[in-house]
Amino acid sequence: NTFAEIDLGDALNDNIRRCKYVKPTPVQRHAIPISLSGRDLMACAQTGSGKTAAFCFPIIGGIMRGQPVQRPPRGARTAYPLALILSPTRELSVQIHEEARKFSYKTGVRVVVAYGGAPINQQLRELERGVDILVATPGRLVDLLERARVSLQMIRYLALDEADRMLDMGFEPQIRKIVQQMDMPPPGVRQTMLFSATFPKEIQRLASDFLASYIFLAV
Ligand code: AMP
Repeated sequence: NTFAEIDLGDALNDNIRRCKYVKPTPVQRHAIPISLSGRDLMACAQTGSGKTAAFCFPIIGGIMRGQPVQRPPRGARTAYPLALILSPTRELSVQIHEEARKFSYKTGVRVVVAYGGAPINQQLRELERGVDILVATPGRLVDLLERARVSLQMIRYLALDEADRMLDMGFEPQIRKIVQQMDMPPPGVRQTMLFSATFPKEIQRLASDFLASYIFLAV
């Protein structure tokens, strides 16, 4: 019933303490162990349920524990993130980025955010400095992929936040285009987490298209 009982590693546990999180919320208590076990996850969770930490902790912990990966040097034009968090809006992306940065303090895991409606140059400069976790809105990410400034070939963790809102905003074609570019060899290495407040037919279809034998969580 405490974060210390979930083995997230010392650096991440220090950051959780620094954020003054003591007790996991229900979605965290259930989603984090499922994700740490390597299973895909579809979770029905509302805003304010603590879902940001629920997908950030397993991603940060997984990158820290994972095999070192060979990536092109920083400053190369194409960035190769290991994790992608897709979110519907600029505001939510900024919020996720801020939280993820607190959680990844002194872990060596670097988080970058990219959203539309803002100049792209600053975002390109941040990407050139290296990125482990990319937080992005679908439209801006498609733009970055078309410019070959981001490659999704090395993605091991994909989190879709507020998936129902992304579909309501008409992002389904962009999301499908993005996920199509993620076929990292060997197959089955990618782990996917889908968070949605509601679970209509369209979301069920996304889940069956993007997730491998997943666990459904409703809290
Ligand atoms: P979220 O649903 O991820 O937007 O989180 C809602 C708010 O709850 C944010 O301000 C978080 O920082 C906070 N929060 C999330 N998990 C915990 C926790 N286990 N203990 C205390 N606060 C938390």
